[in-house]
Amino acid sequence: RRAAFNALRTEPPVTADGHRVTVMVNAGLRDDVAAVELTGADGIGLFRTEFQFLVSATLPARERQQRLYRDVLDAAGDKPVVFRTVDIGGDKALPYLDHDEAGEEENPAMGWRALRLALEREGLMKAQARALIEAGAGRTLNVMFPMVSEPWEFDEARAIFETQRAWLADRGRKLPNQIRYGAMLEVPALAEVLDLLLPRLDFLSIGTNDLTQFLFAADRAHPKLAVRYDWLSPSILRFLARVTAPARAAGVPLAVCGEMGGRPLEALALIGLGIDRLSITPAAVGPIKAMVRTLDRAAITAAMAGWLADPPADLRGTLTAWAAAAGV
Ligand code: PEP
Ligand code: MG
Repeated sequence: RRAAFNALRTEPPVTADGHRVTVMVNAGLRDDVAAVELTGADGIGLFRTEFQFLVSATLPARERQQRLYRDVLDAAGDKPVVFRTVDIGGDKALPYLDHDEAGEEENPAMGWRALRLALEREGLMKAQARALIEAGAGRTLNVMFPMVSEPWEFDEARAIFETQRAWLADRGRKLPNQIRYGAMLEVPALAEVLDLLLPRLDFLSIGTNDLTQFLFAADRAHPKLAVRYDWLSPSILRFLARVTAPARAAGVPLAVCGEMGGRPLEALALIGLGIDRLSITPAAVGPIKAMVRTLDRAAITAAMAGWLADPPADLRGTLTAWAAAAGV
């Protein structure tokens, strides 16, 4: 099977009825970028910039950050890279950052992390913005903000980048040709105000790892709760359907970058919901491409609409049977 997946490296993920699906990879280290070439993926849909912070003994200086981002862009070549600004804090506390003002956190996943921390530690965010903008000189820079819960957080984060861009422009420095700003949808509250944010977004990416844990109030790493954390449950799928429609109407590209997209049955369901951009772990690219190439998108779209309106008792079982009967 591995040989069969390797043979798909140069084959595009097009469904049996001719719809092109975008399959990108998630990455976090310089060496991960090789996976784009090895798998034939369409780019990096999630570059977790906090990895460099987590593996460093001291706060990575702006120059070091910039070097990493430039190396990643060079290695990706013509293919797009989406840089997610740091998702640190909570359970990803750094020994060299003073997290004391967060106090003892009883629920670190819901704590002072990601944008919540970065918007208050403005020096950290400014340095990262400078590093990314400098690294993106002469190219398109895609920046994505994690844990956006309300539109103003996106606006503030974007403003920090725009201030850095203006500062560099004043000094005649070479800038990115374009900066595209996106948000992660992983805090359910954002869905309720998404219509207010969509006009300002260049893209949206759903982080199903955190989204699922917050939607079910079920810790994503808790073994006792794994059965409650089901990506193929009507709650998750209806939620995803509900945010897909306005994003499409607004013309905002929508992706899923959580682990859900790397599982063939789950990816099949996502495509049935109209989500055709996936960013997944590199090892999943072959299996997902293989699934996509045998899938009749029109058929799964119609089937999903029926299951969402009137969910069968065992949606996972129903999907499994559907895939087997369809030869997917
Ligand atoms: C997610 O939450 O789905 C996600 C992609 O981000 P992370 O796994 O890094 O929290
Ligand atoms: Mg997340």
